[in-house]
Parts: sequence; structure tokens; C-alpha cells
Amino acid sequence: MSERAVVTAYIALGANLGDRHAALQQALQALRAMAGSGALRSSRLYRSAPVDAGGPDYLNAVAQLTTPLTAPDLLRALQALENAAGRQRPYRNAPRTLDLDLLLYGDARIDSAQLTVPHPRMWERAFVLVPLAELAPHCVPEAALAAVAAQAIALAS
Ligand code: ADP
Ligand code: MG
Repeated sequence: MSERAVVTAYIALGANLGDRHAALQQALQALRAMAGSGALRSSRLYRSAPVDAGGPDYLNAVAQLTTPLTAPDLLRALQALENAAGRQRPYRNAPRTLDLDLLLYGDARIDSAQLTVPHPRMWERAFVLVPLAELAPHCVPEAALAAVAAQAIALAS
């Protein structure tokens, strides 16, 4: 019997509407269930101001999981969790109850209409790079962190 290979993926979690803390905890729980026997690791929670948008501050984190899912199937699973959390998309960068972005999927490079990996904007965002560096320093070069050092981000108390 052949075992399906599992891949290590990194996911950015964000929420700035409703009970942000509950949304992130529930999402982490769901990702833990999805990771099956593989462990889920998650960063601490951070707070950041919205980028290119108004609205309340975000609560952010990054999670690492191993998954047997293909990248498109993993994205669909993440979108199902967003929808279950009441995610609406009235306009670009609108405040959201839950945002789950696929940052890295093993060392895959994907460029389809639905999915770009590594996530195309991750290198511009302190709210992604700081928690990712906490979890996986080897994935975030010092220069990348330095490039976003001016963006305010704090540990959530
Ligand atoms: P945002 O870019 O603000 O996170 P959405 O969460 O609404 O916006 O995502 C918009 C679209 O981005 C999704 O429909 C999805 O198909 C696409 N997308 C492309 N690459 C990725 C990725 N790596 N992770 C998540 N969504 C992605
Ligand atoms: Mg998104």
C-alpha cells in the first residue's frame, strides 16, 4: 500500500471584524483537525493596523501544518473555513471575519488563476513575515524582515 506524501504548508490567519480572537482560535482548531496525525504549529497572536484599508486592527497569526491535500484542495478547504466564519467580500481589502492565505506549500511554485504560491504579497507584509519568522526562521531572510521593519505590529496581549 502506498502512502500519500504529505507536504508542509504555511498559512496566514487574519481577522478584523467580530470576535477576532474566537475566529482565530476556531480556525486554528479546524486546521489542527485538518492536519490529522501531523502536528499543527502556530505562532503567537499579533495585532496590526489594516494595510491599504480602513477599519479595526487585525489579529494575525501564522500556522504550519502537514497536509496530504493538493494545493488547490487546501485552498478550497481554507475558503470553506472562511465562509463558515461568515466571510463576505463586498470590496477589495474589506474588513473580514477571517482571512486564510496559503503562504508556502512545500517548495512549490504555483501560478494559476485561483492560486499563486508563494503568496504574491507576503514579502511586503510585516503581519505575515513576523509571525512566519517566529515559526520558521529559515523561511524568512533577515533582509526580508528588515524591509518591512517600518510597519507597526505588536504581540496581542
Ligand atoms: P486577499 O488577497 O485580501 O486575501 P481574498 O482572501 O478575498 O483576498 O482572496 C482573493 C483571491 O485570492 C481568492 O479567491 C484566491 O483564489 C486568490 N489567491 C491566489 N493566491 C492565493 C493564496 N496563495 N492564498 C489565498 N488566496 C489566494
Ligand atoms: Mg485571503
